[in-house]
Amino acid sequence: MEDKVVLVTGAARGLGAAVAEHLAAAGARVIRTDHAFTGHEEQGKIALDVTSTASWERCAEMVREEFGRLDVLVNNAGISSRADLLTTSDEDFDRVLRVNVWGVWRGIKTFADDLAAVRGCVVNVGSVYGASTAPVSEISPSSVAYQASKAAVHQITKVASVELASRGVRVNAVLPGVFRTALLADLPEAELSRRVQRAPMGRPGELSELGPVVAFLADEASSFVTGALVPVDGGHLAA
Ligand code: NAD
Repeated sequence: MEDKVVLVTGAARGLGAAVAEHLAAAGARVIRTDHAFTGHEEQGKIALDVTSTASWERCAEMVREEFGRLDVLVNNAGISSRADLLTTSDEDFDRVLRVNVWGVWRGIKTFADDLAAVRGCVVNVGSVYGASTAPVSEISPSSVAYQASKAAVHQITKVASVELASRGVRVNAVLPGVFRTALLADLPEAELSRRVQRAPMGRPGELSELGPVVAFLADEASSFVTGALVPVDGGHLAA
């Protein structure tokens, strides 16, 4: 990753922060972005709300001015709404889709020319729950908007890989299983452990276990890989 310029969305905490840390340790010049950085911008940190066109454009201007290029876009920012099919509100459904789907599409649209200029790549963060269903349980509702949004992220990954291949841009996704982050903080422990047990490896992922897979997809090592959905899930999807 030496000297590659990488932008990670949703990098203030959780998996985004861990991925950013891994890529930086591998030698990349990492731009951490998050809507939580508003008012706290400093070296290598940019306020970016992925739901706003103006915010994406402003971020792109700053990246072009400061770094002059972008090699890798990691679309990681994501939210959930813990409500199932019949209890999700109209507003929550829109909110989740806006961040998780629209935000990914808008990021690719914003930086497509910059990435094509250096034959760069995109790594999206999908989910095992975009390729299988989360358990419906009495102790915790599932998350219809979240699951639908992640299936859409997987499809955007494939569509973008097809449309951008001729411009030299690869587009892939990682599909995390269960990782203990704030995203799951509202899940009762019994439900969390039930989800963990669905994966044959029987444990949650360590935050440090996603970065190396993102790095592989962002590096020349994967130069013939595009449109791939790569589970990082302890075997969850295989089972
Ligand atoms: P998290 O809640 O710890 O981190 C999400 C980050 O996204 C936060 O820093 C938050 O401020 C940021 N964010 C939210 N809305 C934003 C917006 N509008 N603009 C910019 N940034 C915004 O959760 P996490 O678990 O680290 O999730 C990271 C990604 O991994 C998400 O896409 C999530 O769906 C995915 N994922 C997580 C798991 C898991 O088990 N934790 C499993 C599968 C997929």
